[in-house]
Amino acid sequence: MPAHVDANLCDGCGEARPGAEVAACEAVCPGDLMAVDPQTLKAYCRNPSDCWDCCSCVKACPAAAVTPRPAYDLALFGGEVLYEGRPDGCRWTFAGTGDVATYDLPGDEARLTG
Ligand code: SF4
Ligand code: SF4
Repeated sequence: MPAHVDANLCDGCGEARPGAEVAACEAVCPGDLMAVDPQTLKAYCRNPSDCWDCCSCVKACPAAAVTPRPAYDLALFGGEVLYEGRPDGCRWTFAGTGDVATYDLPGDEARLTG
């Protein structure tokens, strides 16, 4: 389940912004999997089968353009995994089969709703 880049949100930060050598998602990927297409200035995962879902690119993207793809058994039921960066931490939301679980980090207990 490789990271998915929303082309409408990605602006290819590294290549598009003077002074930056690589995009944020390229810089953090431990597998050197993320790249920016020089023609479109959109990021993509160049070898999805090698992605191990560490979500570093999801967390690093300043445009919130990268989302993790949920595992197939969650995706099969319309499940979603969402990441939201916040000044003091982040929120992970897991949705599927009618339930929504949110995790506010650091320091919050998981809340199950739905
Ligand atoms: S970090 Fe985000 S905005 Fe920058 S190139 Fe990667 S996906 Fe696009
Ligand atoms: S989830 Fe991790 S391994 Fe996969 S593309 Fe993003 S940074 Fe690389």
